[in-house]
Formats: sequence, structure tokens, C-alpha cells
Amino acid sequence: MSASPPSPASPAPRGRWTTFVRWFDTAAAEREGDPALDDRVDWLRALPFLAMHLACIAVFWVGASATAVGIAVALYAVRMFALTGFYHRYFSHRTFRTSRPVQFLFAMLGAASVQRGPLWWAAHHRHHHAHADTPADPHTPRKGFWRSHVGWFLTRAGFRTDPARIRDWLRFPELRWLDRYDTVVPLALAAALYGLGAALERWAPGLGTDGPQLLVWGFFVSTVALFHATVTINSLAHRWGRRRYDTRDDSRNNLWLALLTFGEGWHNNHHYFPGSARQGFRWWEIDITWYGLRLLQALGLVRDLKPVPAAVLARAGG
Ligand SMILES: [Zn+2]
Ligand SMILES: [Zn+2]
Repeated sequence: MSASPPSPASPAPRGRWTTFVRWFDTAAAEREGDPALDDRVDWLRALPFLAMHLACIAVFWVGASATAVGIAVALYAVRMFALTGFYHRYFSHRTFRTSRPVQFLFAMLGAASVQRGPLWWAAHHRHHHAHADTPADPHTPRKGFWRSHVGWFLTRAGFRTDPARIRDWLRFPELRWLDRYDTVVPLALAAALYGLGAALERWAPGLGTDGPQLLVWGFFVSTVALFHATVTINSLAHRWGRRRYDTRDDSRNNLWLALLTFGEGWHNNHHYFPGSARQGFRWWEIDITWYGLRLLQALGLVRDLKPVPAAVLARAGG
């Protein structure tokens, strides 16, 4: 009897279940079968991301206090430094050296930013440098502002960590663990903030804070602000600013973005010479991450910060 082609097992429910499990275990795809990689936004995957934005509205219920806002600002600063100094300049570009405990400490602080694990981040960033502003670059603004700002990592194609891009880090099981269970650290931070707020309400009521208020300001508001500041480098820093170097991509130098992102706004410098731990090439190009790394070096926590070569500086002009 002539058989009709076997009908494919309905992929949708399994795909949805896999997406759900991936909220907690990013390796779920390897066990469940990977849904087709595609370039459309995976809305189920995006739900927690959208919920984090909605949660910021709760500031109208929980109110504000100097303590809550101060903790939100401090967590923005610490996590921005972990992203720029370590996720970017260390894990993606290896522009200095450090010990394994310091490497893991800053990997955890970076993971607290809810921007996935260090290996996912570095793999995608290395891909960006290899294909910047070509069709293969997932977050080039040539594909539109929203795609470059948020759309690209909400797609199924943007979910996976390509091991070929980060082979140099795979020998560290603690980094692979952090990359696989990338929601553990953010959930722990959120719980700790709630607990701290509850403790302060009880033991230091004069501070005027409580669990829900610290959770909303310290976790949701701070993390959402941190997120949008970080991804301006993918979107705006390839559109707005000055081009000192005639690179093959559209990267720009922009003081305002450099202030917001602790030095990453000198993005044209960085695309021209990504191998330096410093991105503000002139003394007046404020690069807070570079100052922070110099401080960590003075404290003996990092070493061998790679400088900007003299020939590159000479081309930078005055
Ligand atoms: Zn770039
Ligand atoms: Zn880079």
C-alpha cells in the first residue's frame, strides 16, 4: 500500500515545553531536541524579560527610599563593571589575566545582570566582531533599531551558545555550570534583596525600606536600566557618534554612551583595536572600566592589562 509521508510529530507542544525548561536550564534543548533555529522572536522565551519590565511599574506601590535607590545605583555600577571589565574585556577579548577565583567571582557578578552566562555572552560578542554590520551580525542596526537593541537575543537563533567560539573557556566546569543554569544567580540576588529589605524593616525601620521595595528597586529597576544601557552599544554605538578610525563596520565613539556604560562608548576605538583592556584611547576619553581594572591590578587581583599599542595611539591624533 502506498504510504503517505509520515506526518511530523507535532513540534509545537514540545517546543513550548523546551522553551519553558530553558528558563531554568539552558541545556534543555540538548535533551529535548532543538526546535528549529529561526530568526523570529520567541515570545514564550521573552515572557520573563517582559515581566521584568512590567515589574518596574510596582515602584508606584512600593514607594521609594534613599536606601532602595542607593542600592539600585550601587548594583547598576557593580554589575556594569562586571559586564564591561569581565564579560567583555576579559571573557570575550582576553585583554588581561586573573586568577580562577577572581574569574569566577566576576563571572557570577556578571551573571547577576540577567544577561545570560559569560560563555553565551562572549560567544555572541566574538561573533559580532567577526561579522560586524554584515548580514551575519545578529545585532547590527542595519537590521533595524529594535532588532539590534532587543530583538536579536529573543530569537531561537540567538539563544544558543556556539561552543566553537568559546573553546578556550570550556575547560572550566564552573563557567559551564554558570552558563547552563543562568537564572540561579539572578534568582539568588532577588531573594537576597527581598530578605535584606525585610531585615532592614525590622531592625532599622528608620531607613524606610522593606522587602518588596528593595526587590523592585534593587533588582527590577536596576537590572532593566543596566540592560538597556548595555545594549546601547549594539544599537546606538553603531549609529551615533564620531568615527576616528575607518573600520569596516559602522562603530562610533560617543562620550554619553561611554559615561553610561563605563567606557564602552568608545566603540570605534574598540572595533579598530579590540585587543586592549583600555577603550578610551586618549586621556580625556573617560573609561571608568579601565580605571577600575587599574585599581584591581594595583590590588593584585588582575595582571597583564594589555595597553593600546603606540602605533594605534599615534593614529588616534590629539
Ligand atoms: Zn560593535
Ligand atoms: Zn568587543
